[in-house]
Amino acid sequence: MQSFLGKPVYKGIAMGPVVVLKHDDFQVKRKKAEDTEAEIIRLEQAKEQAEKQLQVLHDKAVKEVGEDSAAIFEVHQMMLEDEDYLDAIHNMIQTEGVNAEYAVAVTGDNFAEMFASMEDDYMKARAADVKDISNRLLKNLVGEGEIDFRSMEPSIIVAEDLSPSETVQMDKEKILAFVTVHGSTNSHTAILARMMNIPALIGVPLNLEEIHTGMKAVVDGFQGKMILEPTGEICRQTSDRIGEETEKLQLLQTLKGKENITLDGKKINIYANIGSVGDIGYVLENDAGGIGLFRSEFLYLGKKDFPSEEEQFQAYKKVLQMMAGKKVIIRTLDIGADKQVDYFTLEKEDNPAMGYRAIRICLKQPEIFKTQLRALLRAAVFGNLSIMYPMIISTEEVTQIYEIVDQVQRELEEEQIPYKLPEQGIMIETPAAVMISDELAEMVDFFSIGTNDLTQYTLAIDRQNAKLDDFYNPQHKAIMKMIQMVVDNAHKHGKWVGICGELGANPELTESFVRMGVDELSVAPSMILKIRKAVREMKVLPKG
Ligand code: PEP
Ligand code: MG
Repeated sequence: MQSFLGKPVYKGIAMGPVVVLKHDDFQVKRKKAEDTEAEIIRLEQAKEQAEKQLQVLHDKAVKEVGEDSAAIFEVHQMMLEDEDYLDAIHNMIQTEGVNAEYAVAVTGDNFAEMFASMEDDYMKARAADVKDISNRLLKNLVGEGEIDFRSMEPSIIVAEDLSPSETVQMDKEKILAFVTVHGSTNSHTAILARMMNIPALIGVPLNLEEIHTGMKAVVDGFQGKMILEPTGEICRQTSDRIGEETEKLQLLQTLKGKENITLDGKKINIYANIGSVGDIGYVLENDAGGIGLFRSEFLYLGKKDFPSEEEQFQAYKKVLQMMAGKKVIIRTLDIGADKQVDYFTLEKEDNPAMGYRAIRICLKQPEIFKTQLRALLRAAVFGNLSIMYPMIISTEEVTQIYEIVDQVQRELEEEQIPYKLPEQGIMIETPAAVMISDELAEMVDFFSIGTNDLTQYTLAIDRQNAKLDDFYNPQHKAIMKMIQMVVDNAHKHGKWVGICGELGANPELTESFVRMGVDELSVAPSMILKIRKAVREMKVLPKG
């Protein structure tokens, strides 16, 4: 038995088999091949395996996200048969007498570079596909197949690190816990773990060479501990604790259907944060009053190309229909920083968190923005939609956004496509937005305070930097004062204000937020009932 300490990002306990997830960035070495024919046979086997994997992925995607999105796997299958690509690999093995891994890696890089330098945007975007195909072949060659979630029993995923796009692609039903060696508590991967209700630890000093898929482990998200190959006694204690936790959660269930009302009669809204249509189940299960933050960028992550207007429209429409008239606030694309997508071909930046991201991309590349806005305005007909814009720093940006929204409305009218203009609000997540919240409040319908980024920008602390986790204090006096300022400015203009950053989900602060006048808290679905409990046990007027 071995135990390791890390930082918990979601409090919960899990026990089960480990699955070690290795990453794509192989350190491929050039080796002299004694038998080049044997290398060619290995390559053929890896290719056959890749064909089967792509077929499985294609069929799964058709079922879950439709033919359009699944088509990318057909493109990959075609690329895998591309003669120029295959000839280049064969040729390198035979003429240079190198190992198949090396030939695949070099050919993959060469082809990716060639596509990336093309003028045509479609061809440019194929660079990511060639890389993907080459990585798949490499994985198969070195014997690190992908996790097949269909056949996997519920397991604890262990990895060096996980990106948000990897996390969103996982089958949540099959994950008991996440454990990573790196990562920061405020990263989107951590947020996803909280949203998925999954015990998770980061910063656990594991040597992945020594951990094997199939080992048993306990993950304790309360104590920030992982125990490998636990003793029988620890397993018994853990089972008891899992039972107790389940009981506590069941107790919370009695709050379902009850109002979010304080002992002295003040009501507030408690909504849920989600990242995909698939999360709606958790929203309904936990009795949220609405959706306060749908991080729409997750529709773009883990994909090979931009989601079409139709694909987005269908996703938004589904959420609105399932929420049946309850408020659904969809945040427009917040790509950039830790949420990177290959097909956006964003340049590498020195300070991505302070870089080309979110609304900045949308205003500079309005075609991307307009596709999303068209889908949103069309979907608005099917429920109670609000749109929210991220990373705002000026009134000019809001003016520009409204101009683009006007254009979209005109286009839809000309095309006689039914649409509705929903309520429009902004995220307050930069100190600049806080300071001009008085002016901004006149322009928009509501504010939602993004304390994750607001903390990062106010305290000058990169939320991705695990070394700074101890300094990252979203309860800093400066942040609390900012929240009060934003609430006062919003109310002065008759606008409502919510908090959708992780701070809003801290039950110890619920009382303060309600007293400050916050109208809505949007939290991970798993936190809805806990916050409801805190609201129902407090008084706005101090006791006594
Ligand atoms: C925030 O910054 O607080 C927020 C809710 O947005 P995200 O975490 O997606 O950046
Ligand atoms: Mg943010």
